[in-house]
Amino acid sequence: MKALRRQAREARAVALEEIDEPTPGPGQVLLEVRHCGVCGSDLHVYLNHKGYESVLPQVTLGHEWAGVVVGWGDGVQRWEKGQTATMIALQGCLEEGCRYCSTGLTQLCPARRVQGLHLDGGMAEKVVVDDHYLMPLPEGLTTTAASLTEPLSVADHCIHDCSEIEAGDRVVVCGPGVIGILCALMARKRGADVVISGLDADEPVRLAIARKIGFETMTVGGQHPSLTDQLRQQQVDVIVDASGASRVLEEATRIVRPDGTICVVALYPQEVTIDFNVLVRNQIDIRTSYASARPNYQRAIDALHAGEIPVDELVRSYPLAAGVSAFEEAERQEVLKPILDCSKHG
Ligand SMILES: [Zn+2]
Ligand SMILES: [Zn+2]
Repeated sequence: MKALRRQAREARAVALEEIDEPTPGPGQVLLEVRHCGVCGSDLHVYLNHKGYESVLPQVTLGHEWAGVVVGWGDGVQRWEKGQTATMIALQGCLEEGCRYCSTGLTQLCPARRVQGLHLDGGMAEKVVVDDHYLMPLPEGLTTTAASLTEPLSVADHCIHDCSEIEAGDRVVVCGPGVIGILCALMARKRGADVVISGLDADEPVRLAIARKIGFETMTVGGQHPSLTDQLRQQQVDVIVDASGASRVLEEATRIVRPDGTICVVALYPQEVTIDFNVLVRNQIDIRTSYASARPNYQRAIDALHAGEIPVDELVRSYPLAAGVSAFEEAERQEVLKPILDCSKHG
């Protein structure tokens, strides 16, 4: 079968390969992949960036996918052939003695792994998954929409579990990538008044899409006034940082109102320096949010099924056979969310 694989620990060493079909072992399910998203982390791996050393040098990428069940191994009983499903990407050890797995915080398990980075993922015709990490999709939810489940679950964890956003809050989401825009959608769903900020480079695609789906946007950096200056007259209750730029986090401490919250969902390529006295004197909370777990996936599936996410505006589809171009266009920021159609592999 065809699979889009990382071939070496080098920049741009990703190619379509012919590999053996996987066979489901005990407790595992075999699926035909329909659609698989290209994630920011896939792009970091593609570019061989620092911080992704744990990713296998040779692996089929893809942790944001949806597909159709076509078989299973011993001990699996709950599926019928033809049912659609998606995968929980960040998988814990599931041992009873693990305080994180036993309390539903699998994403914090010390033995956690991401299928699609640490074992073969879904940018392929077929994939095998541990049954425990497979979630059924409701009838009527397309596999294109369902391939947004994982990033939407990350946004759900950030906004629902960590941000303390309430109806009527003024919220600034920094960084108009997919996670930023999905966080903004989740915050708006909670009744917040949301503005999304980005750079000049974000103007043509990311901020344009943000405006198209009804968000107020702000452009900062370069010739533009700073975020601090543009928000000077406003009371900002919550700042969500999805930008990964350390400057943004430093600025956020001076923008958010006293007793407000800064919620961090990004990872930073460099160390962040923050004046903690500003936080303490204004009693500002910094909350962090990492990945997501099963309840977030379920809420994401429900939101997608209810049509609450404008999927068509966010994604652009590429045949699996043209998967490398999806990575190239994502690197040049010409596309917000590339989705590979894995049924088109010829
Ligand atoms: Zn992802
Ligand atoms: Zn565990």
